[in-house]
Amino acid sequence: MKNDCVFCKIVTGDIPAVKIYESSEILAFFDIFPANKGHCLVIPKDHYKSIDLIPDNLIASIFCLAKKIVKIQKKIFNISDVNLLQNNGREAGQTVFHAHLHIIPRFKNDKVNFSWKERAYENESEILMLANKMKEGL
Ligand code: 5GP
Ligand code: ZN
Repeated sequence: MKNDCVFCKIVTGDIPAVKIYESSEILAFFDIFPANKGHCLVIPKDHYKSIDLIPDNLIASIFCLAKKIVKIQKKIFNISDVNLLQNNGREAGQTVFHAHLHIIPRFKNDKVNFSWKERAYENESEILMLANKMKEGL
């Protein structure tokens, strides 16, 4: 529990939220400013500020619940398309620094946008160098 964290306060009930699922370790609730109706957030109840700090067993629980939420969103809204979004850090668009996974139902022409401008690598060796660095760390 982090004192100044809005999601910790949702966990404890100090701030109200529309909760849709709760276990001893994770919580799902509606986003207060939804990109679309049914936009959910899934969080670990314990405070971790980004995904890389969350223990693997919790990551598994979060994504298993996300899968169930996706299925229900598809059924309720009669849709086939859903985005999972997970922002880590200010530059990545994170505004609440208690790690969370967005699950956003998508509708035709809903104008929700996650676009970016394409970039290019300098050359083939830059690609290989970066790929090798990443491979070595995994
Ligand atoms: P981020 O930009 O950090 O990935 O997303 C944070 C999300 O939390 C935003 O979509 C925002 O609408 C949502 N949010 C912020 N404060 C509250 C709150 O007090 N209650 C709920 N339910 N959602 C919140
Ligand atoms: Zn927190």
